[in-house]
Amino acid sequence: ELILFWHRRDLRISDNTGLATARSQSPKVVGVFCLDRNILERDDIAPVRVTYMIGCLQALQERYAQIGSQLLILHADPMQAIPALAEALNAKAVFWNWDVEPYSQIRDRNIIDALKEKGIQFLNENWDQILHSPAEIRTGSNAPYTVYTPFWKNWISKPKLPPVETLQTIEGLTPGEQEIAQNAGAIPLPTAKDLGFIWDGDLILPPGEASAQARLAEFTYKAITEYQEQRNFPATDGTSQLSAALKFGAIGIRTVWQATTEAQENSRSEETTNSIRTWQQELAWREFYQHAMYSFPELAEGAYRDAFKNFPWETNDTHFQAWCEGKTGYPIVDAAMRQLNESGWMHNRCRMIVASFLTKDLLISPQLGEKYFMQKLIDGDLSANNGGWQWSASSGMDPKPLRIFNPASQAQKFDPDGEYIRRWLPELRSLDNEYLVTGKITPLERRAVGYPEPIVDHKQRQQQFKQRYQQQKEII
Ligand code: FAD
Repeated sequence: ELILFWHRRDLRISDNTGLATARSQSPKVVGVFCLDRNILERDDIAPVRVTYMIGCLQALQERYAQIGSQLLILHADPMQAIPALAEALNAKAVFWNWDVEPYSQIRDRNIIDALKEKGIQFLNENWDQILHSPAEIRTGSNAPYTVYTPFWKNWISKPKLPPVETLQTIEGLTPGEQEIAQNAGAIPLPTAKDLGFIWDGDLILPPGEASAQARLAEFTYKAITEYQEQRNFPATDGTSQLSAALKFGAIGIRTVWQATTEAQENSRSEETTNSIRTWQQELAWREFYQHAMYSFPELAEGAYRDAFKNFPWETNDTHFQAWCEGKTGYPIVDAAMRQLNESGWMHNRCRMIVASFLTKDLLISPQLGEKYFMQKLIDGDLSANNGGWQWSASSGMDPKPLRIFNPASQAQKFDPDGEYIRRWLPELRSLDNEYLVTGKITPLERRAVGYPEPIVDHKQRQQQFKQRYQQQKEII
């Protein structure tokens, strides 16, 4: 009897909880992925992200073919298309891995209802993309955590599962059944361009599970041992750049975790062990934000803290455009935004700098920045992006409220030789380091190289921000 396995954020065969469960219940398992019209028609979809996703789907189709089955592709509203396909193929059940996002939960409940109506079984309880489900990590009074440090302490104290066994062979559809699938909407995999998303640049990580595994092996062989020291310098490749693979599940989180524990076993110094631990803490941030989104779906709608619910953000299109295009006159901010626009990825240190600049210097709503990031990032992910923006705007769960980054001191600390700035702002390449990093470039020089004057004064604007914040606190 056939089981349909619906892939969503788990574009791989290896270490896939739901897929392995499906296989344990039937030798005949066929994969399906639905290019969800409800998602693809939104206005916050990055062409680079769709390009990466399509590449992962192509690799996944090849993996299915290798083990004897198929990955079917639908381009539709999954609420109708998934139950209809299951019915047409006379599937016994549809299995999938659970997701935390508010839209996914509504969609999945609708699909469960439709499957029940048709008498088709389902299994959706696999928390495949995180190491611990929200139900496992609760405070002493059985509530979800709203602060990271106690969350981390609890999370790290729990034993973690090893990777799920990777399937070697499964049975697929007969030619007759393949025709039935086509009549029920299965199509050849389109390109990103066919879907209207054009990305001509390189991808920071090649798509598919093989390249994600290769990247993990490379990172955990050496860079992870220097992570603590290197992770804040945007000019160096000190981080894993695995974020897109984790977002789309091109690699299993248990596989990633196992690689970190093996690195720890091989570690010969306290420094190395601490570095590996620091990287593990980043994986825990990822889970913290996913749990937060699951338990507090209102986070997706706006500020968590009351002082920010009616904050008088400014509407200034000129400033916003300058920020988007990397033309604020602050070199580190502009270099970062150009990295985002040109490569579809941005270093974490720089994400914090530009988010602080948009909210604390331009006094523009973090929701605009959050959306722009989603329109550009290869790894754009609701939980992590929202978490990052709420943290930077001080509007989130984080207990330390007013974090204001000074762009010049950030650049001095984290790009001391101006290497990152020069890489992304070619017009500033010939300038002396001192001016480049402090941003103290004379108006004459700015004009000579065609680089704008600072659009705001950092000192003045941070005062304004603090005043507005105080006023809001008094109102509430
Ligand atoms: P590494 O340093 O190698 O970290 C390993 C993995 O841990 C990452 O791949 C990611 O999955 C996870 N991770 C690391 N830091 C964080 C974090 N602070 N929050 C959540 N997960 C984390 N990350 C996204 O995956 N998608 C986003 O849309 C996103 N938007 C962000 C927006 C802002 C304003 C900020 C400040 C951060 C955002 N991040 C986001 C978190 C972080 O910047 C990226 O995960 C990281 O830069 C990805 O690079 P990496 O894979 O080399 O990370």
